Amino acid sequence: MTRYHGGMSAPTTRFAPSPSGLLHLGNVRTALFSLLAALPDGRFLLRIEDSDRERVSPVFEEALRADLRWLGFGAYMDEAAVLRQSQRAAIYNDYLKRLEGMGRAYPCFCTQAELGAERARLRAQGLPPRYLGRCAVIRPEVAQGRIAAGETPVWRFRVTEGEEVGFHDIVRGPQRVATTLLGDFIVRRANGEAMFFFANALDDALSGVTLVLRGEDHLANTPRQILILRALGLPVPEYGHLPLVLGADGVPLSKRDGSGSLAALRKEGFLPLAVINYLARLGAVVGSDQLLPIAALAKAFDSRRIGHAPAHYDREQLLHWQRLAMAQTPVAEWLAWVADCVPEADRQRFVEAVRPNALFPEDFRRWAQIVYGGRLVLDDEARAAVAAVGAQFFRAACAHLKEGGAPSDLPAALKAAGYAGRPLFHGLRAALTGRIAGPELKDILALMPRTLVAQRLLEYGNADAKDL
Ligand code: GLU
Repeated sequence: MTRYHGGMSAPTTRFAPSPSGLLHLGNVRTALFSLLAALPDGRFLLRIEDSDRERVSPVFEEALRADLRWLGFGAYMDEAAVLRQSQRAAIYNDYLKRLEGMGRAYPCFCTQAELGAERARLRAQGLPPRYLGRCAVIRPEVAQGRIAAGETPVWRFRVTEGEEVGFHDIVRGPQRVATTLLGDFIVRRANGEAMFFFANALDDALSGVTLVLRGEDHLANTPRQILILRALGLPVPEYGHLPLVLGADGVPLSKRDGSGSLAALRKEGFLPLAVINYLARLGAVVGSDQLLPIAALAKAFDSRRIGHAPAHYDREQLLHWQRLAMAQTPVAEWLAWVADCVPEADRQRFVEAVRPNALFPEDFRRWAQIVYGGRLVLDDEARAAVAAVGAQFFRAACAHLKEGGAPSDLPAALKAAGYAGRPLFHGLRAALTGRIAGPELKDILALMPRTLVAQRLLEYGNADAKDL
């Protein structure tokens, strides 16, 4: 029987990314579920799976660490205790030696051609391909001789045929695989590197991980990992394989093509709390529809209730959480954010005026450009609104200012000149801000410097009707 260490109230979980690309939302969700499952009393570990030197890069490692810090994971993980597989080759070798000593691992000298022929034979008989154990019977001293003579074998784990490996996946339920189907599998490559799933299983066991939550693309590794850990007498964690996250096109998000990368969302201006609250509910049940900080999300999250249907990335949902996160950001943060582009005396009023229209932090700065900046580019709707009222409208507006009228009284002055309703407000707003929607017009008129208001109105007042 597998010894399960999971199911305890305070699990140790981990996130074990390979730094071979930018984290996408599927990866981030795995990390988040692992963290939420561990809180409040368990431990959450980060392990860098960088042993496949051809695919990994320190650039991606730094990027993923920065992503995790940005998400707010820093408070819950000990960065100094992060394991890196590239530094643990000696440990993996040591456990391979133990397996060899027990007769559970052996060197295999079969060539690619021999293995290919074996697979083809099995397929021709309608059987799944597996290694049939040709080198399993080579005597150890003979194998030693061949190695001494310069051959470079791979190492295989010796599977006991005719058994079953069973485990309970906390997402997918009971799983069973016949060992006979596995065949003796490779645990170390000819170049001396441990196979990914061998190192991965050892690291989990040695660092006391009790619950492994990971993508379902690793499901096929689990029976082999359980066999290895059992053979070594190491604790077997509990496993939960999360369904992949599919993009809008129905294709799983992928680290290598950068789809749905967290970096791209960060650049766009999504806030960490929005991303976290969105992902916590993507295929899982959170007993609250409020925007919650990580610790509170963990309380409302149940790792036993993760769904097994594929999850779909839905930008509209993410935007919903973004709106809540923006609304919840303290005004003081926005005051600091616009400190270099909004005059101090206006700052509070500016932030309050723009806030209902700001979906991303950058929107505050964009509106600062509009309210305090120089040249304006009108969008199509704004151009139409300006043309609809005509040059005469702007001449009336300029006359009001020339007579010493306040910008705030422009709507009243234009009403007196015979304009009304939507054309009046859209025309004015379009000429002043370049668009027909945005913060309240009265706020814009109160904030925008008088000379800028005059300059923008004059531009259209002087134009010929055909230029509008
Ligand atoms: N390094 C693996 C990956 O990035 C993680 C495997 C696991 O979580 O066990 O997909």
